[in-house]
Amino acid sequence: MKVLVTGGAGYIGSHAVKQLIEAGHQVVVIDNLIRGHRQAVHPEALFYQMDLADTQALADLLRQEGVQCVMHFAALAYVGESVQHPLTYYRNNTAGAVSLLEAMQQAGVKRLVFSSTCATYGEPKQMPITETTPQRPVNPYGWSKWCVEQILRDYAAADGEFAFASLRYFNVAGAAADGTLGEDHRPETHLIPSLLLTALGRREKFVLFGTDYPTPDGTCIRDYIHVEDLCQAHIQVMEALRPGDQRYYNLGIGRGYSVREVYEAACRVTGVRIPLEYGPRRPGDPPVLYADATKIRTELGWQPRYTELEPMIATAWQWFQNHPEGYPE
Ligand code: UDP
Repeated sequence: MKVLVTGGAGYIGSHAVKQLIEAGHQVVVIDNLIRGHRQAVHPEALFYQMDLADTQALADLLRQEGVQCVMHFAALAYVGESVQHPLTYYRNNTAGAVSLLEAMQQAGVKRLVFSSTCATYGEPKQMPITETTPQRPVNPYGWSKWCVEQILRDYAAADGEFAFASLRYFNVAGAAADGTLGEDHRPETHLIPSLLLTALGRREKFVLFGTDYPTPDGTCIRDYIHVEDLCQAHIQVMEALRPGDQRYYNLGIGRGYSVREVYEAACRVTGVRIPLEYGPRRPGDPPVLYADATKIRTELGWQPRYTELEPMIATAWQWFQNHPEGYPE
């Protein structure tokens, strides 16, 4: 299939491009390179530096390349930043998706796989989170993605041939097993990269945010899914989409690990007793979030290859050891 990947120079998008190409698909990438890295784009993908806001250029590109399906990763994804700059998030994430849909409409492209997030659920009381758990976001990032889900429903209702899947990611982690791609966020605030950068000596210490949560060891629990398993799910979903489909899937492994468990696993993988400091809670962190991911397993036969922390962290460690400075630009 001919697939347009938006945000194909970003962490998850770049892994998706690689896997699509390895699965025999033809890939066109757009990325505005504000957060992405040109070097992360697979050499066999066609690359265009383009912004989602440029509806006309997008429509022309979709037509010119004969694109059949869009995987839409391009977005801003820092919760804290979204609280400080909500309009930037609504412009990039929500208005950006509208522009993309308008371009798809003009070009007659009828299939979309959308990167949504467990942040659309907010802080549900019931765990695990299923696809029918009520969605009540608690920050502009979550709302900016929630809005896109609503827009997709409305658009699909108006065009019976349009098909979409909204994939609600939990905590994506790890790097390509062959060492060619990895995570390079600037600034890097995520748990596993922060631990590994500290193990490398690039940070003085790792600060664990909060030890007084109502969890067995007092630290937050999250559901970590390997980036390659996540991208594999995208390909399976894309191949399963039929005209008129509206699909929603949680993407996690369906089990939670505490921050302390991740810390211990990172120490074992790196062989370094990572310097640790206990800090206060980070505002806005819910105590426990993990997925019920049985829907995608039963409907599409998706199986994550990585269900244990250590092998998952080992792929990220390989990347950070070989690319301590990240991508060249
Ligand atoms: N965390 C931490 N120290 C860090 C980064 C993260 O203790 O330097 C904790 C954070 O409070 C949360 C978990 O690790 O409980 C996962 O955080 P991350 O930012 O990776 O993902 P989030 O769940 O916020 O999307």
